[in-house]
Amino acid sequence: MEGKLYYQDAYIQSFTAQVVKQEQDRAGNWYIVLKQTAFYPTGGGQPHDLGTIEDQQVVNVEEVAGEIRHYLDRPLQDLGKEVSGIINWKRRFDHMQQHAGQHILSAAFDHLFAFKTVSFHLGNELLTIDLETESLTEKEAKKAEELANQIILENRPIETKWVSEEELSQYSLRKETKVKEDIRLVIIPDFDDNGCGGTHPKATGEVFAIKILDWEKQKKKTRVQFVCGNRVIKQLDQKQKVLLELTKLLNAPEKEMEQATQRLLENGKMAEKLLEQLQERLLQYEAKDLLQKSEQKKLIGEVFQNRTIQELQKLARLITSEEETAIVFFVSQNENRLQLVCARGAAGMENMKKVIANALPLINGKGGGSDSFAQGGGEALMSGEQMLQHLLESTK
Ligand SMILES: [Zn+2]
Repeated sequence: MEGKLYYQDAYIQSFTAQVVKQEQDRAGNWYIVLKQTAFYPTGGGQPHDLGTIEDQQVVNVEEVAGEIRHYLDRPLQDLGKEVSGIINWKRRFDHMQQHAGQHILSAAFDHLFAFKTVSFHLGNELLTIDLETESLTEKEAKKAEELANQIILENRPIETKWVSEEELSQYSLRKETKVKEDIRLVIIPDFDDNGCGGTHPKATGEVFAIKILDWEKQKKKTRVQFVCGNRVIKQLDQKQKVLLELTKLLNAPEKEMEQATQRLLENGKMAEKLLEQLQERLLQYEAKDLLQKSEQKKLIGEVFQNRTIQELQKLARLITSEEETAIVFFVSQNENRLQLVCARGAAGMENMKKVIANALPLINGKGGGSDSFAQGGGEALMSGEQMLQHLLESTK
């Protein structure tokens, strides 16, 4: 603990210290070790501090083999004098709020439902705890959130104590400690005793608020997503912006947003269905039109631009089922590709599989089908008209 100023007082934002050493780690990153420091290193689920030392950026802080390494963006020049360090307080205080909030919420779940917290993650935006339960109801989540916020409102002190393993028996720890000596307890009187090496505010009121956002089943556990402190305001702000935008877009008040969205989705589905029906009818007209246009009412050849092969297949089927003596050759030019559909009615004798097999090599194409219906595609190595001529000639 010696030299760890953040344990003496978590509110120290600036300090001075002698440099013990400056070295590079195996990856070639420069770091300095100080006689004392207020920079909190990564640990106990809490991310490291940021800030400056002698106006140089501290980019990472890690505790390795008992020394606290302050990684700097470039090495320090003057190591002889005392250096001054300044913590990025906004980041640190946020971590203190989140960390203490997690203690409170975990304790609330434990008190109310005996759901143990088995892991904790403090992310940039959100926090998660994994509870040892396979399910969590809306009611349970609400109750835990209410109790946690009640503890915050009561502004109870948050105390820290260093104890030995023997002294531990005087406390009822929420979770067994991993450390066996110099155990640091974080205590919220009459509510929570927990072993923890992180930084916390001096009273629960500073956590400000806790809001559970969501939860999901994770194997045999439940992962609860939440935020504390100023992040609650940030979340409210983000969500409010989205909501306001949606109320404008949907032209509905906030409370009716759900119905308005449902209506929109249903309308979309109906429009889609209608469009499908109209397309189908249009194809039927197109099929009739092509049949009428064909002189012998038998051989129909067309070149299209940018039509899907599915659409042309449908159109060819409509024609051949309407007129059993019809032969259909469709070519569609889609950018640098040619797509072919060759079909005949039930009364025809021509082999469409053979026709397409003769045509495809001309365009490095692939395809196949049956005697009466075949399709394929390849590169546009010739025009659609040229390809159609080739197909028409193959039936002569
Ligand atoms: Zn803690």
